[in-house]
Amino acid sequence: MKMSVFENSQLIQRLFREAVVKRETTMPCRLVAVSKTKPVSDIVEAYNAGIRHFGENYIQELHEKSNDPVIVEKCPDVKWHFIGHLQSNKSKLLSKVKNLYLMETVDSTKLCDKLNNESAFGENSADSKLKVLVQVNSSGESQKSGTSESQVLSLVDHIRTNCPNLQFKGLMTIGSYGHDYSTGENPDFECLLECRDRVLDHMSLKPEDLEVSFGMSNDYLHAIEMGSTNVRVGSCIFGSRQYAVN
Ligand SMILES: *Cc1c(COP(=O)(O)O)cnc(C)c1O
Repeated sequence: MKMSVFENSQLIQRLFREAVVKRETTMPCRLVAVSKTKPVSDIVEAYNAGIRHFGENYIQELHEKSNDPVIVEKCPDVKWHFIGHLQSNKSKLLSKVKNLYLMETVDSTKLCDKLNNESAFGENSADSKLKVLVQVNSSGESQKSGTSESQVLSLVDHIRTNCPNLQFKGLMTIGSYGHDYSTGENPDFECLLECRDRVLDHMSLKPEDLEVSFGMSNDYLHAIEMGSTNVRVGSCIFGSRQYAVN
């Protein structure tokens, strides 16, 4: 029998919590339900099952859903994540997203500068800075967005030095699909953790001070075990989609 979004949401939250409790670190981790292509009614269902963080990878779709009257009324505590590629000429639209919590995919100084110049971020929140993660193209595939490993530190420095309206929170990767875990750990996740360590060193921070966003439906439990602080789970909660991730 096909399970409902409500039931899936309960199940995945339970598996998620069990995996977080089991891991060695005491670092917190959050579950982000990736609702791209899925209707508002599915989001409300997942919200009613207890999920609060939702992710979208098309800016137009995120803008529409976050301002949808049903979402605004029924999901007052929703926290949106943008997880797609953003062209810098669309940064205005991101500033109009309601309840935007985290922009996970900044990958160029140009985009950072544009976002920094959109002053409307977080008008209603105590801290008015836009929280951002730097997306790393850990697999080096040319069709994937993200900054290259070697550019991470300079992009982080750029944000901290030149973008007072942005708050650098950590790193994110998508990685290549279908890693076979019987051959060992996921090299993209290892790469992201190495980048994280270099940033920690560079900024004299402790691991608790930086987020690392990795892990999707097929490997979020592995990702949690490896220390992810933000897993992004779509199809396990909402069912399969018509088109793939980008
Ligand atoms: C679609 C998407 C996900 C979720 O993918 P699933 O395999 O459905 O869990 C996670 N991260 C990003 C960036 C995505 O675009």
